[in-house]
Amino acid sequence: AKEKGGNLMQFFDPLLALAIEERRRLESELRRAIREREFVLFYQPIVDLVQNRLVGAEALIRWRHPERGLVPPDDFIPLAEESGLIGEIGLWALEVASEQLAQWRKHETQLYLSLNVSARQIPDGLPPETLFETARRHGFAPESLALEITEGVLLSDLGSAAQWLEEIREQGFPVYLDDFGTGYSSLSYLKRFAVDRLKVDKSFVRDIATNTSDRALVEAVIAMAKSLGIEVVAEGVEDAEHVRLLRGMGCRYAQGYFFSRPLPIDEFCALSDDIPLL
Ligand code: C2E
Ligand code: CA
Ligand code: CA
Ligand code: CA
Repeated sequence: AKEKGGNLMQFFDPLLALAIEERRRLESELRRAIREREFVLFYQPIVDLVQNRLVGAEALIRWRHPERGLVPPDDFIPLAEESGLIGEIGLWALEVASEQLAQWRKHETQLYLSLNVSARQIPDGLPPETLFETARRHGFAPESLALEITEGVLLSDLGSAAQWLEEIREQGFPVYLDDFGTGYSSLSYLKRFAVDRLKVDKSFVRDIATNTSDRALVEAVIAMAKSLGIEVVAEGVEDAEHVRLLRGMGCRYAQGYFFSRPLPIDEFCALSDDIPLL
């Protein structure tokens, strides 16, 4: 026993201990945030480059932390996923997005929303029946609410993820494949799983004006999507040159700081009219 204790001491790493402690604290703060409803959804416009109009928005979560201010999702979503709290957070986001859609439909605003879904939520954290019931209860068509998934979803558990996808698409919920191009075998997944749109990752869009291989890649993705009957959304569109090039490549939809940053709902509603559409 004495020897074991010695070994433990030998491997005791104060930095690691600190990291574990910090993690534990963040996790209990996350639990409080769920209880106290400290999360908020921001909305970023999605623009149709053919019709030159605003068609929808991506809902992006933030944490209004009482001391730290607005915390971006990359700082807490990974921990929420590891600790299993993502299920509750995801259901909260679904409810808030649905209330917003109901509000828009009441005022005859036809915008749609897309919601990010983590691989860890599928299938049990977000059962298809919950989606159907939520849309029914709020009185909007399933077509109004797209679910953004990443390749990770399809990797996690082929059988149940595929069935989840099939069921929600059958009911009319569009599915977007997010961060397209950043994973390992995107093309083979596209053959196996039907999706409605591809979102080309912003890391590829950023340099299309200057980097010929990035431009060729985006062009190839758009051509391939077209041949599969899938529309493309370009992410990270930051300037007019991006818009010009993407339009030339036949990219239908775009999203990025050029049009607007993600905004709180009141600012989003006020902004709708003066988004640059070129
Ligand atoms: P994502 O789904 O790839 O979202 C796009 C990210 O790019 C957002 O960061 C957005 O603010 C940012 N962005 C938009 N336009 C531009 C641009 O022109 N240039 C640059 N450089 N960035 C741009 P954000 O809001 O910090 O979200 C980060 C990630 O957090 C999201 O990446 C998504 O994976 C995750 N996330 C956000 N909300 C949720 C949620 O409700 N549930 C889950 N599971 N994940 C979420
Ligand atoms: Ca997304
Ligand atoms: Ca993305
Ligand atoms: Ca991402």
